[in-house]
Amino acid sequence: MSLSKMDIKKLNTIFLRIFNLTVLMSLLFLTACTGSRQSNSTGSKVKIFVSILPQKYFVEKIGGSDVDVYVMVRPGQNPHSYEPTPKQMSALSDTAIFFAIGVSFEKVWLDRIASENPKLIIISTQKGIKLRKIEAHSHSVHNGAENSEESLDPHIWLDPVLVIQQARVIADGLIQVLPEKRASIEANLQSFILEMANLDEAIRNEFKGITHNSFLVFHPTWGYFSDRYGLEQIAIEQEGKEPSARHLTEIIETSKKKNIKVIFVQEQFSKTYAEAIANAIGAKVITFDPLAEDYSNNLLKTAKIMAEYLK
Ligand code: ZN
Repeated sequence: MSLSKMDIKKLNTIFLRIFNLTVLMSLLFLTACTGSRQSNSTGSKVKIFVSILPQKYFVEKIGGSDVDVYVMVRPGQNPHSYEPTPKQMSALSDTAIFFAIGVSFEKVWLDRIASENPKLIIISTQKGIKLRKIEAHSHSVHNGAENSEESLDPHIWLDPVLVIQQARVIADGLIQVLPEKRASIEANLQSFILEMANLDEAIRNEFKGITHNSFLVFHPTWGYFSDRYGLEQIAIEQEGKEPSARHLTEIIETSKKKNIKVIFVQEQFSKTYAEAIANAIGAKVITFDPLAEDYSNNLLKTAKIMAEYLK
């Protein structure tokens, strides 16, 4: 059997068509894949970045198994002076949302993060929250910029009632990138709100038996918490810097007047001044972690210990 010239020509044409069709289908397939990856919503989890560990807890509770949460400020690091690593910066390229909270490293880095990642949605979870003024504290040291915003207290995550507001903002952001998951996100939000309401009540109960409400801190982290539960924090740190001799003398006098017997510190800041003042007034220095990931358990445990020292 032999093929005529005519037959060979026909076969070639058929092969060429099949080849073209294969190429066309491969191209379509590739386009489809790239398309779904860019939308960040089909198939696998959606990638989220947050600034601090407690926010990871919030976003995971609300996003459930649909989110993969990455944290900028790792355990033990200071959110006021933090600098993102090159690895973190490049990880932002396929991230859907960055939930900012207002800690000072964001003021330095968010503009750059936004301009390098035009598709990244940046959401401030301070939205709708009336910020309080911070005690003897400024965040201007690290970025050299001085404005009125600098004297506002960024520690909004330490009041469970304010966390409920942040949770609504988080849920709205997640629904924006996962519209098909609206029902489960709303359900998760409701149980998280209940968790925060229960936590608020449990903390309130802890402070029922206290006889005095003032305490010293090095860094004024507990402002919203103190406002909520009727406490008063007195900051050793001054404008985000080490205290002057005059400020130290004032603190020692105030502590004696108010019979303050406890100083709360945290790992992210120096304990030198707290220990010196503790020696001068006969107070105890207690370490807390306001940036723990295990948010609810940690905050209740902290409240219990605080209450013990305020009885
Ligand atoms: Zn702080």
